[in-house]
Amino acid sequence: MKQVEININIHAYEAVDDLNPQQQELVNAAIDAAKSAWAPYSGFQVGAALVLENGETVIGSNQENAAFPSGMCAERVALYQAGARFPGVAVVELAIVALKKGELIAHPVAPCGACRQVFVETEHRAKKPFSLVLAGRNQIFCLDRATNLLPLAFNADEL
Ligand SMILES: [Zn+2]
Repeated sequence: MKQVEININIHAYEAVDDLNPQQQELVNAAIDAAKSAWAPYSGFQVGAALVLENGETVIGSNQENAAFPSGMCAERVALYQAGARFPGVAVVELAIVALKKGELIAHPVAPCGACRQVFVETEHRAKKPFSLVLAGRNQIFCLDRATNLLPLAFNADEL
């Protein structure tokens, strides 16, 4: 038996001001996007903003539904919108935030498992990684590759 360890590298920051200008812009766009969330059931407004290789910024917010599985996460709203509006253009960076009662949550927001799987497909499709900014009020996590959030991920190579 051999033990295998998988590590991920996270750059942790304490404030939005510590991020580079592109990341600050994306976090602010994600905060604005969160305000457009339809989240009457959870009260958890999530916003996402991504920048594409062509310089376009695309936003998303969570859209809930009384029939719960019919809703969609902010990250996937943004990624699918980017795929529909700019097919074949790679994602460079994606920022995600969450508001509770209108205030940024304290810790870095964590994407759900389904969104992590979509990150894998997005990187695989573009054949290049994109970076992630998971912003909270007191801490911000930045990852160089979105797929670092899903070790041993299933992807199209398995089919
Ligand atoms: Zn999700």
